[in-house]
Amino acid sequence: MLILSNVWYCTFQREILKGINMEFLPGTKYVILGTNGAGKSTVGYVIMGLEGYKPSEGRIFLDGRDITDLSVTERAKLGITLMWQEPARFDGINVETYLTLGGRLNVSKSEVCDALEFVGLDPALYLKRLVDKTLSGGERKRVELASLLLLKPRYAILDEPDSGIDLMSLDMINNVINYIAQYGGTPIVITHREEMAYNTDYGYLICAGLILKTGRTEEVISAFRGTCEVCKHPNLPVN
Ligand code: ADP
Ligand code: MG
Ligand code: MG
Repeated sequence: MLILSNVWYCTFQREILKGINMEFLPGTKYVILGTNGAGKSTVGYVIMGLEGYKPSEGRIFLDGRDITDLSVTERAKLGITLMWQEPARFDGINVETYLTLGGRLNVSKSEVCDALEFVGLDPALYLKRLVDKTLSGGERKRVELASLLLLKPRYAILDEPDSGIDLMSLDMINNVINYIAQYGGTPIVITHREEMAYNTDYGYLICAGLILKTGRTEEVISAFRGTCEVCKHPNLPVN
């Protein structure tokens, strides 16, 4: 179980997260829902332990162990992953090398091909493609989703997984999310679109760095509909 206990995050004297409490259980699908600028990605970065995203107050626990001071690499080894809203590019590395971590991941060629097919990429066309600017944002996102299928992380934070991918692919993304939950992993979907939340079980509504609602996804979505005018506070920068 992953727990955020009273997590604050401040930067340049500004409070971005204001006492976040969250719990994530194995095999359960979660959504973190909120409008732009609410602090959703920041929650993901704090869980992942990215450089510069140490909580100014509060702790993060994984199976009872305090991981607040662990590096991103150490957290990755414990099975936490983050799929970025804008996936990174890797010049000179092809899709196959990327997906197998340069051969270090113990997966067969056919597993790699299956993962690519699962996310709608033809292995014959994509295995040797470079993970650089020649792939579209949507294609890179699909490669990232394929990498989740192969890595089988315990906790997979998916930051706006549908951005840059056409609407027709929502089923494919949900299939990846379901796959993670089926092997006992925990998908954590970050989104500002309620359609992206439908496939999750439980969630958190976040607004201006505060949790406005914790509960089953239906309850979180109805709270989101009811409070979105509050969330669209004019002083919040849109990003
Ligand atoms: P969301 O993902 O919900 O759109 P973010 O977590 O990206 O929101 O951002 C929340 C707020 O915090 C925004 O107003 C953003 O500009 C601000 N913010 C996030 N990270 C930083 C940072 N490192 N420095 C300054 N402001 C930041
Ligand atoms: Mg945003
Ligand atoms: Mg974001």
